[in-house]
Amino acid sequence: MAKTYMIGNWKMNQTLAEVESFFANLSLENNQNNFWISPQTLHVQKCITLGASTGILIGSQNCSDQDYGAYTGEVSTESLIEMGGHFSLVGHSERRAYYQESDEFINKKIKKSIEKGLVPVLCIGETLEQREAGDTFSIVLSQLKNGLINIKLNNEAELIVAYEPVWAIGTGKTASPEQAAEVHDKIREKLREIFGELGEDISILYGGSVKPSNVATLLAQKNINGGLVGGASLKSESFAELCAACSL
Ligand code: PEP
Repeated sequence: MAKTYMIGNWKMNQTLAEVESFFANLSLENNQNNFWISPQTLHVQKCITLGASTGILIGSQNCSDQDYGAYTGEVSTESLIEMGGHFSLVGHSERRAYYQESDEFINKKIKKSIEKGLVPVLCIGETLEQREAGDTFSIVLSQLKNGLINIKLNNEAELIVAYEPVWAIGTGKTASPEQAAEVHDKIREKLREIFGELGEDISILYGGSVKPSNVATLLAQKNINGGLVGGASLKSESFAELCAACSL
């Protein structure tokens, strides 16, 4: 069965004082190593230290497709693992849009992450224009297929997929549970096609204006196995409420 995760994506937010206050005020119940946070890279080490007592696992928002060398500004998967990092977001729509990340590049980052023992969270999703043109399934499934070319898994915990309709990210517009569920069902079918039985157990998270008031109806959908959350993960009370919904 696919495990349920709640992952906070803090983007380029939070001062050091806000990070400290977040962890000082955080109280979580029933943590099964499934509550994760990706702070900005400069705060990863601090969050690993502060998050240790709550059992929160920390990752990055991006990682390099290379081992090491002359790649100015990149995030090394090996260094992240070395300092206790657990995962990396890969192919977030903001990176696809602002930094022109292609499916091919994203595929290389997924390969590198898995090779080094970091869990990649592959983000996929359509824009409003693509949805209105009736292209949602073809866009999402081609991002999924191309991102996973030649990826081999030993078990389902090595990969997480996050469906994030671009029009719902940071806009306050959430996909309805039915809209999200029909895309998640298609993603599940494709994961089964690619990975066989293992595809049944890979977690598929929904992202796009998830908040405490809508999380339960989203998580009630069969193939929605958690959330990738931006804005509502920044405050400890709200993040704790989202995490609590994972055990309902
Ligand atoms: C995100 O950053 O991936 C995201 C879904 O943001 P928000 O929850 O703010 O829409």
